[in-house]
This record gives sequence, C-alpha cells and structure tokens, in this order.
Amino acid sequence: MNHLASQDPAIYTAIECEVDRQNYGLELIASENFVSKSILQAQGSVFTNKYAEGLPGRRYYGGCEFADTVEDIARDRAKELFQCDWVNVQPHSGASANAAVYLSCLKPGDTFLGLDLAHGGHLTHGSPVNFSGIWFHAEYYGVEKNGLINMDHVREKARSVKPKLISIGASAYSRDFDYQAFRSIADEVGALLWMDMAHPAGLIAARVLNDPLPHAHIVTTTTHKTLRGPRGGMILIGKDAENPFGKVAPKSGRVRRMSELLDSAVFPGMQGGPLVHVIAAKAVAFNEALKPNFVQYARQVQKNSSVMADSFMDRGYHVISGGTDNHLILVDLRSKNITGKDAEIALQSAHITVNKNMVPFDDKSPFVTSGIRLGTAALTTRGFMESDIREVVELIDRVLTAPTDETVQARVINEVRALCEVHPLYDFVIA
Ligand SMILES: *Cc1c(COP(=O)(O)O)cnc(C)c1O
Repeated sequence: MNHLASQDPAIYTAIECEVDRQNYGLELIASENFVSKSILQAQGSVFTNKYAEGLPGRRYYGGCEFADTVEDIARDRAKELFQCDWVNVQPHSGASANAAVYLSCLKPGDTFLGLDLAHGGHLTHGSPVNFSGIWFHAEYYGVEKNGLINMDHVREKARSVKPKLISIGASAYSRDFDYQAFRSIADEVGALLWMDMAHPAGLIAARVLNDPLPHAHIVTTTTHKTLRGPRGGMILIGKDAENPFGKVAPKSGRVRRMSELLDSAVFPGMQGGPLVHVIAAKAVAFNEALKPNFVQYARQVQKNSSVMADSFMDRGYHVISGGTDNHLILVDLRSKNITGKDAEIALQSAHITVNKNMVPFDDKSPFVTSGIRLGTAALTTRGFMESDIREVVELIDRVLTAPTDETVQARVINEVRALCEVHPLYDFVIA
C-alpha cells in the first residue's frame, strides 16, 4: 500500500479516511458489515487480472486452472453451507443475481408478485424505476397495520393476479417468513417461488431463522450483508429440477433444468467475465461462515437486535411490528416529531450511521420518510454485546431528542469513540 501512497495520494488519503471513519463511528446500516482481513486480501489479489467467462472446466479463455480451483471451492463451500444442490457464485451483486432470475423465469410483460417497496420490499422486486418494474408486470402484497405479512391476503392477491413468479424477501422487514405457506400459494396458482435472502442470509446459514431452500424453487442472495463476505451476489437451488414452465433447449428439444437456465442467464445472459478476485473472497467468507463461531455470531446479532428493539420501545419509540426476529429493526419516528431524513442527518453529525426508511403506510416521500432502519450485524462483528447496544440506543435517543444541539452531538461523538475503542475493528491504516 506504500505504492498507492506515493503513486496516488488522493485515493490513498480517501482510503485512509474511510478506515478511520469505519473504526471510530457506529455502523448501524442494516445492509452493512465488516469483512475479515483474509477476505480483504483475497479480494485485493491478482485474480482481478483474469478473464474467466464460462464455468469451471468450460471456460472461454485459457489460463483458468487456478480460477477454476477458486470457483470450485467457492461453490462446494456454498453448497455445504446452505445444504443445497446447486449454486452460481458469479453474480456481481444482489441486483445481478435477481436479474438472472427474471431472465430465466419470465418474458417481458409477464406478471409477478412481490412485497411492496413501501412496505419493506426491494427495488429489484418490481419498483417502477427498476428494470423489474419496467419490463415486467409487477403486482404487490403488503403488510398489515401491525407491520406483519398476512398470508391469507397474499393468497387472495395471488389468486386474483395469477403471477408466474412470486418473490419473497425484503430489505426492511424485521420478521421471519413462512416459506411453507408461500410455497402452497405458489403451487396453487402455478407460480415459481423465489426467495431473495440478501439481508438474512447469514442468519439462515447459521440456522437461526427458517430455511427457504427446501421450499423456494430459486434463492438469491448478496454475500456482503449478514453473510459477512465481499460485496457480491449468488443464486442457489435447494433441489434442482426441470423448469416447470418446460422451456426446452434450442437444439436438442430437451427440457432444461432450472440450474442450466440460471447458469446461462448469469452468463452470457446478464454478465460478461466473472470477478474472480471477488469469488476468491466469497470462498474465504463461506469458509468463515462454516465455522462454529459463526453460529455464535448469528445468535448474538439476533440477541443484540432484539435488545435494541426493546430499548427503543422502553424509551417510547414505536418499533414496526413490535420487535424483530432478525438483525434489523424499523423505527417509526412520528411520535418523536422528527423525520427519517433529519434523524439520519443529526445522527451522522454524531458519528452514528443509520438510514432513513419509509415505514408502512408512510405519509412522507422516500426522500424524507418517517422512519429509520437499524441493524446490528456490523456492530456485532466488532464484539458489541447487549449492554453496549443499550448504550448505543441511549446515545441515539440523546441525539434525536435534541437534533440540532451541537453540544449534545460533540459529547456523543466522544462517547461513540470510547465505545469503538473498547471494540477495535481494523488495526491497520490500509491492508
Ligand atoms: C441489498 C438487496 C439487494 C441488492 O443487492 P446489491 O448487491 O446492492 O445489488 C437485492 N435484494 C434485497 C432484498 C436486498 O436487500
């Protein structure tokens, strides 16, 4: 890294500042986490130089023997971790993995059913500004006033819109899903069932949440949220089968398996060359997640999240759905007379990072919002325990009670720093 410091001081300095920001701020963005040094090293390796279009043993370029090793190991570890038949570890991101699902399951204009974005769903599940909502006909199910998905209403909606694909998965839903009920609805209306476990993947890998793989036809994920790997995506199938829609191979007329359709949807369907350096880092992350202490980690994430929800409620905040099953909580700030936007800004000034988020039935725009979303995955990686989380909520409450008071913010910055020093993160300036 001395090279970078002398060759490109502007970028070096920005990285240095970012290490400092991560080390001395409280990271509560629910989609973020901190990777190990091993993962950083694998991702920073010379595999970034290698083109490896295709799959191990079937590449379009020479010199792929070590890329094959890396991708084979990544796939084997992912299959062991999630106990499944098939994976593709090449998607560059969660959104790319999801694009491959649409490409293999739907034709433009086909109807699918997903969770409403305003109720915790994700952009790639049919938002009008995303390809999924532009090229396909998106219908939505939502949550009830109590913040929970009602399966009877999902069934009614599915019966009335007859989707070809039903998606489960969210970026701001703090409860577990009833995959069996979703599957029975999908079977009843003749739809494929797809679970996007981008957020809870690490907790699912550790078996502290319900497992979608036995129930969904297709599962997608990111690798960088609770799974604590490098930024990237992955597609999994629990039990591989012929595609129920009977798409046939162009030449042989043979019905293709879901795994074949998805492999070709990733490449050449959606992507070019895979990011072999990132696949190497994914392999390292899966190995970490296979170790027994990852289960301890996942349990602690869940405990911390539940303590965080309780601490907010004790202080008079409204927590959507009255608590959490996973790593995240959604707080409705309307009773505290502050918007999500202003809360995010005030907390940022005190070195506490959260994001503003719509709450179900929000009366404010996505740029303002009535809520904030918080997650415990990143702080738990640093070793924060229940008592630390109570202190974090106390600090947040102090800031939100006096959002424009700079003396309060200055005091909180010092306490944030003290908490961070007790739980050190990266002990280097740059890897
Ligand atoms: C984060 C997320 C994604 C997108 O992942 P990117 O890697 O940012 O593309 C997709 N679906 C859900 C449910 C997510 O939470």
